[in-house]
Amino acid sequence: MQKEIVIIGGGPGGYVAAIRGAQLGAKVTLIEHHKIGGTCLNYGCIPTKTLYRNAELLNTLNHIEDFGIKTGPVSFDIPKIQSRKREVVNQLVGGIEQLIQINGIEVVYGSAEFLSATDLKITTAKGEISTISCENIIIATGSKPQMPPIEGLDHEGVITSKEILEFTEVPEKLVVIGGGVIGMEFAGIFSAMGSVVTVVEYADQLLGQVDTEISKRFAVSVKKKGIDVHKSTKVTKIIKTDDGLTVVGESKKGEVTFDATTVLVSTGRTPVIEGLNLANTGVEYNLKGIIVDEHFKTNVQGVYAIGDVNGKLMLAHAASHQGIAAVDHIMGVLHHGNHDVVPSCIFVFPEISSVGLTEDQAKAKGIEIKKSKFMFGANGKALSIGEPEGFIKVISDMDDTILGVHIMGPHASDLIHEGTLAVSQKLHVDAIAGTIHAHPTLSEAFAEATMGLKGEAIHMA
Ligand code: FAD
Repeated sequence: MQKEIVIIGGGPGGYVAAIRGAQLGAKVTLIEHHKIGGTCLNYGCIPTKTLYRNAELLNTLNHIEDFGIKTGPVSFDIPKIQSRKREVVNQLVGGIEQLIQINGIEVVYGSAEFLSATDLKITTAKGEISTISCENIIIATGSKPQMPPIEGLDHEGVITSKEILEFTEVPEKLVVIGGGVIGMEFAGIFSAMGSVVTVVEYADQLLGQVDTEISKRFAVSVKKKGIDVHKSTKVTKIIKTDDGLTVVGESKKGEVTFDATTVLVSTGRTPVIEGLNLANTGVEYNLKGIIVDEHFKTNVQGVYAIGDVNGKLMLAHAASHQGIAAVDHIMGVLHHGNHDVVPSCIFVFPEISSVGLTEDQAKAKGIEIKKSKFMFGANGKALSIGEPEGFIKVISDMDDTILGVHIMGPHASDLIHEGTLAVSQKLHVDAIAGTIHAHPTLSEAFAEATMGLKGEAIHMA
């Protein structure tokens, strides 16, 4: 008998699960109450990266004379920037919709909530109600911005990542509350576009869990770009003034204030569980998300939770691979994914990426490590393209098995995958050293950093 799967949420978790299910012969229904593509395609990864490209070009134009190119004063056309962003998003969403159709997946537009562990009620935007029953339901409802308990969040000009993407003018003074990934990506984008940017961060380090050395170097790089960072500072309230807004915080020095025309609140994201009526199912969850096992199955038979909603890793590629794993489990197919090794990328200037253990994590686990670092300043390609800032750091155990790779520098988000393969396959240094890397490429820096673990790097003193 053909298996049936119902998926709630059409983001990178849900739509990938739907396609996988159809490929394996299941009858799949995908319920989405807004737009196929979810946060990632519509309000997250993709629109931010189109704007990141604008910022990247502007940063290059700022030192274009270094390349012997002369230009006039640079200006920009915001409607065109916005229309390019929309075109990229629409092209990708349209492509996914086509794939869904080709794979014979039924899409139901509406909001789903549980009546029982096998029965869902769907309410359309017009208020029409229908029900659907299924033995296998995957929850992929994603996440939403987490709003901290700060007085004055309702003032005009206080916005989240979703609204700032629709900017019609560049904020004159942007205060970013939260120096995590999303906050620092927008800080970089708007600073390149000319905003005076201030970042206020509660912790004593930017970018949370990244390699401490990278975080410190990144802080220097951010300062050089003119972004004003205030760490160990807790925002308590936002006040409306005649000129705009004032963000009030508490630091070790006492009360601090920052003037703003726009305030971006980027203090993390929280899973979308409310409204699902999980009480009707017995599915267990906590503040981090829906609790799942290694197959992304909840405590209730036939109910799975993938992506941001289970709070394991709020990354699009993690959501997609969890979707494949959940469907494979439902369909009884052997799953090959390694969900313990997931690369993460931060689109700041310069880019940052990471996979596997950091030095601090290895220390905390009591693992003795070796480390080796290769600077992009000694890499031919990085110098040729005029982006020599940063390095690749590789960490291994004492037997030279690669445990972690941390990159800050040009195209870090593309370079991380060789490291990801090395960590996920537990490769020995010799496997990388014995693999010829083309010249001149940024990837040579990874080979050199890896060879450095045995003191065998060629271009390192
Ligand atoms: P989502 O993409 O959030 O999709 C959930 C879907 O479920 C939505 O379409 C929603 O409408 C629908 N839904 C919710 N409730 C219901 C319901 N009751 N009934 C029907 N439908 C429902 N990640 C990266 O890996 N790389 C990046 O560069 C990156 N950049 C980001 C930038 C920003 C500004 C933001 C906000 C996020 C970014 N992320 C990035 C994170 C990434 O967007 C998420 O990890 C990813 O979208 C999670 O996928 P998901 O399928 O779990 O949920």
